Amino acid sequence: MKKTIPVLLVCAAISASAADLVLRNGRILTLDPSQLEVQAVAIAGGKVVARGTNAQMTSQITPATKVVDLGGRLATPGFIEGHGHFTGVGQAKMALNLRNVKNWDDIVSMVAAAAKEVKPGEWIVGRGWHQEKWDHKPTPNVNGFPIHDELSKVSPNNPVMLTHASGHASFVNEAALKAAGITKETPNPPGGDIMKDANGRPIGLLNEQAQGLTRRAMNQYLAQRTAEEREAVLQKEIDLAAQEAISKGITSFQDAGTDAAGIERLKKRAAAGTLPLRLWVMLREPTREMAVDAPRLHMIGFGDDHLTVRAIKQQVDGALGTRGALLLAPYSDLPSTSGTPTTDSKDLEAQAEIAIANGYQMCIHAIGDGGNRMVLDLYEKTFKANPTVKDPRWRIEHAQHLDPADIPRFGKLGVIASMQAVHATSDGPMVLPRLGEKRAREGAYVWQSLMKSGAHVSQGTDAPVEDVNPIENFYAAVTRRMKDGKEFYPEQKMSRMEALRSYTTENAYAAFEENIKGQLKVGMLGDVTVFSRDIMTVPDNEILKAEVDYTIIGGKVAYQRR
Ligand SMILES: [Zn+2]
Repeated sequence: MKKTIPVLLVCAAISASAADLVLRNGRILTLDPSQLEVQAVAIAGGKVVARGTNAQMTSQITPATKVVDLGGRLATPGFIEGHGHFTGVGQAKMALNLRNVKNWDDIVSMVAAAAKEVKPGEWIVGRGWHQEKWDHKPTPNVNGFPIHDELSKVSPNNPVMLTHASGHASFVNEAALKAAGITKETPNPPGGDIMKDANGRPIGLLNEQAQGLTRRAMNQYLAQRTAEEREAVLQKEIDLAAQEAISKGITSFQDAGTDAAGIERLKKRAAAGTLPLRLWVMLREPTREMAVDAPRLHMIGFGDDHLTVRAIKQQVDGALGTRGALLLAPYSDLPSTSGTPTTDSKDLEAQAEIAIANGYQMCIHAIGDGGNRMVLDLYEKTFKANPTVKDPRWRIEHAQHLDPADIPRFGKLGVIASMQAVHATSDGPMVLPRLGEKRAREGAYVWQSLMKSGAHVSQGTDAPVEDVNPIENFYAAVTRRMKDGKEFYPEQKMSRMEALRSYTTENAYAAFEENIKGQLKVGMLGDVTVFSRDIMTVPDNEILKAEVDYTIIGGKVAYQRR
């Protein structure tokens, strides 16, 4: 026995100073103001244990240490996706990707090809189309949207459901309308719209809650699968989403809405150590379920800091593209409408009460200035009624178009503007027609106005609405340059440092995680993103050439570019 004691002591001595991973010879931006840039970082037991010069890291290296020579490359705290739909990213990987199509004809051809591959009756799904981004309008069309005949012709035996890039509308074919029982006579469901032509015939476009009609029919079809088959698909979604995010440099992902069953599934993965990245999840359920599930699903840092559930997701309006965003005054290009609220205000109040009672943040989707005002009013009223809740950090998801009078309310109330820079450049061309020049200039994607008035602005892509790629989003944040080369109200651009902080420290703050993430500081999580080019210094037009070379999570290389 005596003989073994010194051996144990030696082992203990080595492990105390040995790192699992040392990154050296880099330009490492820690985002810690007390030591903003270092050459090298050492990570052990999943956390940063030292940082400094290459020479200072030598004592951390043993034969067991993995050493990565960064060759002068830029490394930053791991990028945090601030608002995405995690399993949606996985689903998108399994559906037709319509994000980059040139026009409606392209979509019809893609569906025609898919229809040849599937069994009769099987649903064909796709996602990501946007009628304003096509090179020409379909003929015939209703308000710029196609009519389903062409689509129905190429897929007569398979229902087709193609979700709009915003997620707020779907386009379906005749077989899908039939499966859902939608006819000329079908009334609009509450909060939804079945778009019809001049003769009252449904054209195939289902807005907002009307999508539920075909989704239910599809779910009935899918329910015929065995439980094992269904579970396998859901697990695959998690794997595909994680792979996609990690390959783009994302180490933590803030998920904008999952139900209790989805959270239980993620929890099992986190407990088993098979959740490849860190998730911060907003619980999204109807109020009755929420009242039961919010207390029991609250968790912080579960599974070695891989799963946190402490936020509730709700929604007040739709998207600007589909004119579902709730405006204070009518749309400039369709004065007969100002958008539609998607959720009853009593319901929102009930959800906010559950949030207060159970220590949850509220995260409410609001795009239009009317929607944003509704949410700010609700938050203000709730905070006043609950003065003991000191630092609630409630968020507005998107906060896209604001009335100038409401901009300072974010800072004043401590409400986080959870925004998506890339929406500004991808949606920019349609913002002017929808809102008119004055409203667009004063209130659309006003990052600088918000920051200057004391608001925290966090950053995400809304994937799969946009690609989860943070480099494209960073480029949009610092250039506001649209596809046609024009800059969308450049006075609202972020500086590169502001954009970097929004993706790291601000996103961590927006999730109450600023003590473990967002900076590379001793004791914080060893999550790092390494870039092939220095996105902080290269000319604007070279930012998009940068790639992610390494994604490091908890000191382990989760992705390495080949
Ligand atoms: Zn979203």
